[in-house]
Amino acid sequence: MLLVLTTATIINVSLNFRDYSIKSAIEKSKMTATIVKDGLTAHMVNGIMDKREYFLNQISANNDAVKSLWLVRSENVIKQYGKGLNDETPRDDIDKKVLSSGETLREVIENSNDITLRVTIPYKATVSGGNTNCLTCHDVQRGDTLGAISMEFDISDMRTTGMLTILKIFGINMLFLVIVLLLLNYYVTPFMRLFTNLQNGIKKAYSGDFTHKFETTVGGDAKNIVDQMNSLFAKMQETFGDIKYNLATFIPQGCVSSADPLHEAKTIINELSDVYKFKKTIELDSSKDEVYTRIIDILKLKYNLNRFALYEVNNITQERKLIFSSDKESLICQEKVNKDAQGCRAFRTKSVTISSEFPNLCQACLSERQNYICIPFTINNDVSLTISITGDSEDEIEKIRAHITSVKHYLEAAKPVIESQILMEKLKDTSLRDGMTGLYNRRFLEEIIDKIMHQAKRTKETYAVMMLDVDFFKMVNDTYGHDVGDRVIVEIGKVLKDNIRESDLAIRYGGEEFVVMLHNASEEGTQEVAKKIHSAFAALSFDVGTGETLRKTMSIGISKFPEDGDTIWKSIKFADTALYVAKTTGRNKIVHYEKEMADSDDLR
Ligand code: GH3
Ligand code: MG
Ligand code: MG
Repeated sequence: MLLVLTTATIINVSLNFRDYSIKSAIEKSKMTATIVKDGLTAHMVNGIMDKREYFLNQISANNDAVKSLWLVRSENVIKQYGKGLNDETPRDDIDKKVLSSGETLREVIENSNDITLRVTIPYKATVSGGNTNCLTCHDVQRGDTLGAISMEFDISDMRTTGMLTILKIFGINMLFLVIVLLLLNYYVTPFMRLFTNLQNGIKKAYSGDFTHKFETTVGGDAKNIVDQMNSLFAKMQETFGDIKYNLATFIPQGCVSSADPLHEAKTIINELSDVYKFKKTIELDSSKDEVYTRIIDILKLKYNLNRFALYEVNNITQERKLIFSSDKESLICQEKVNKDAQGCRAFRTKSVTISSEFPNLCQACLSERQNYICIPFTINNDVSLTISITGDSEDEIEKIRAHITSVKHYLEAAKPVIESQILMEKLKDTSLRDGMTGLYNRRFLEEIIDKIMHQAKRTKETYAVMMLDVDFFKMVNDTYGHDVGDRVIVEIGKVLKDNIRESDLAIRYGGEEFVVMLHNASEEGTQEVAKKIHSAFAALSFDVGTGETLRKTMSIGISKFPEDGDTIWKSIKFADTALYVAKTTGRNKIVHYEKEMADSDDLR
C-alpha cells in the first residue's frame, strides 16, 4: 500500500510540476511580449525604430530563460514599412499561423537534452489600448494583426528539479516504508509465530496427540490464551490417557488399529456400547437357542455375513450339532466332523483357522479350494461353539478377517449367559429332582453344584450351607410305620420351600437329611431362616391315626461358603460337623460351625 501511495504521489507531483513549469514560462512569455510591445511602441513614438535591435538584444541577454526572441511583421506592416531589420518576415509555420489567426500559439518541444517552450504572441492594432493609437502610424484596421513576437524558453531545469523533487519524495517514502516494516516486524512477528504455533498444536490434536506445548513471547491476552491452551491440552492428554488405558482393559486386543487414537477410542466405545446392549438383551432371553439366534443376527446384520454356519459341540461326547446355516453352500465340512468334532481343525486347535494361511489347511473341508474362516469358542467344559464363515474369494475372506476380534467380543459377552442357560436347562432336568419332595436330589449335588460354586467364586457370591436332620426319626418309622415317616419327609420339603427364596437351593441329601444353600445371605439372615425352618417344622403335628398326634424336632448345622470351606463339599462337611455337635449336645437346636469343631473330629 505504501508503495502504491508513493507511486501515486510521484506521478501526481511530476505532472503538477511540469504543469507549473510550463505555466510559469508562459507567464514570463506574456510579460516579455508586453515589454517588447511597449518598448517597440516607445521606439516608434520616439522615431527611433531603427535603434530597436539593441533593446531586443538586451531583453534576450538579461533573461537567461529566453533562448531566442524574434519579431515578425504582418504583410500590411511589411507593405507599409518594409521587411524590417534582419528580415522580420515569418520564420516558420507557427509565425504564419499566428499572423493569420491572430491567436497565441504555444508548443513544448522535448528531446533527450533539453525542453523548450515556444510561444508566439500576436500584436493587434488597438485604438485606445493605454496611451497609444496604433492607427495613427499603421495603415491598418482596428484589430488587425500587426505582427508577432516569437520566443523560445529553455525549461530544461524543470526536468532536473522535477527529478530531484521526485527522488526526495521517493527517499522520504522509502524511509517511512522501512520504518513501518521494522515496526510491523517488531510488533506483528511474535503474533504470527503464535498463530503458527497454535495451528501446529491444533493440527496435532486433530490426530489425537495432545502433547504440544504452546509458547509465546507476547504478554497480555495472548499469554492468557497460551496458558489456557496448555492447561486444556494437559487435561485432554491426561483424560485421554485414562480413557485409552481403561478401554484397553475392556478390549485388550483392540478392535481397531488407526493412526488416529481419538478415532480409535470412539470406535472402541461404540463397539463396547454395542456389545453392552447385546449383553443386556441376551440376559433377558429365556433360552440358549434365543441367544444363538441373537449371535446369528449380529453376524448377519452387523458384519453383513451372508454365508456362514454355527455349530454347538458337546465337549464330552465330541459330537457337533448344526445350530444354523445360511444355505447349503455354507456347509463345507465332511459329514464325519459332526460325529467327531476333533476332525474340525478350529475346534481341535482352539484357534481361528483361515484357509488363506496354508493350502488345504483343514483337511475335513469338502473342497480344497474353499475360502473360509472358522472361529472356535469354548463356552465351558461341556459346550463349545464353532462359526464357519465362507467367502467367494481370498479378498472377501481378508475383509471378514478384520471382524474376527469384534465377533469374539460378542461371543465373550454371550458366554456367561449361554453358560447359565445351560445350567438352567440342567436344573429343569427331572432326573436331578427327588420324587417325594420335589427338591433337588443328591445327583444334582454331584453333577451341578461344582459348576454353581465355580460361577459363585468367579462372581464373588456367597452361600450359607445348612445341614438338617430330624431328631430320632427312626423311632417314627419304628412306631408308626414307614408311611408316617414318608409324610414327615414330604412336609419337611414344603417347610423348606416355604422358607427359602428363588435363588436359594434345597436338596434332599439322604433319608431324612437335607441341605439348604442360602444365596448371599448375611449371618443374621441365615440365623433367621434357620430359626424359621426349625420352628415351622416343630409346629407341625402329624395325625398318626390312633387319635394321637405326632410332633417332631430337627437339628441344624450351618457353615459358610467360601469363608469356612473353599469348596462346597468342604462346606457341606463342616455343616455336617456342626449338625453332629447339635445332635450330641441335646438335639433340637441350631449350631454354627466353628474351627475348633474340626479339631475335635474324634467326637464322631
Ligand atoms: P438322630 O436324631 O440321631 O438323627 O436319630 P435318627 O433316628 O433320626 O437317626 P438317623 O438320622 O440315622 O435315622 C435315619 C432313618 O431314616 C433311617 C431310615 O429308616 C429312615 N429313612 C431314611 N429314608 C427314609 C424314607 O425315605 N422314608 C422313611 N419313612 N424313612 C426313611
Ligand atoms: Mg435323624
Ligand atoms: Mg439321619
